[in-house]
Amino acid sequence: MNIKKILIIEDEKSIADIIKFNLVKEGFEIDMAYDGKTGLDKALSLKPDLILLDVMLPEMDGFQVCKRVREISTVPILILTAKEEEVDKVLGLELGADDYITKPFSMRELVARIKANIRRTDLIASLQDAPADVQEFGNLAIDMNRYEVRKEGVPLELTLREFELLKYLAGRENHVFSREQLLEEVWGYEYYGDIRTVDVTVRRLREKLEDNSSDPKYIMTKRGIGYYFRRP
Ligand code: CA
Repeated sequence: MNIKKILIIEDEKSIADIIKFNLVKEGFEIDMAYDGKTGLDKALSLKPDLILLDVMLPEMDGFQVCKRVREISTVPILILTAKEEEVDKVLGLELGADDYITKPFSMRELVARIKANIRRTDLIASLQDAPADVQEFGNLAIDMNRYEVRKEGVPLELTLREFELLKYLAGRENHVFSREQLLEEVWGYEYYGDIRTVDVTVRRLREKLEDNSSDPKYIMTKRGIGYYFRRP
């Protein structure tokens, strides 16, 4: 396996150093940036395999960095957020982060989350050679094997999580799932997030899939219960 490169964007040098020390020990190659602007430059030029991104940063905050990186790259982004900043998690996910971890965190948890995110990227990369398994739902063509979605022939840029949620729901048409079930099935038991994560991801998916995201035709809300996929 080739060595994975992680970019740490964190202005608190003591935290950044501890993280670096632990990740080097795990066999990762590490690059560091101590402000948002340098972090963005490095994210674009060094093409890391994963980005650890603090929210409160000088020059440019973590959200702006996340948004800019996401415009051109699907690299996994793991946001570091302070416990009291609940809103950060949701905002980070809305801007395209894949995951977040709340400070203070244990190094064991951080390493586990990094490995889980990188494993998923590797899995997707290996699927590009898989045989296509395209299923059509109205204007949507979903390749269940290769993680590709087209709408009227035009490819959609989905994050891994968005695709996984779509694949899960579309593969079980008309079956209503609670947020808790989706969190468990799509995000996995190793995930520590809350159920709002599901709502945010559904909202992002709708913005990409639907003609009018406030009047969805594919991903439907079952009031008081959860979500389901419907063939239009
Ligand atoms: Ca900070």
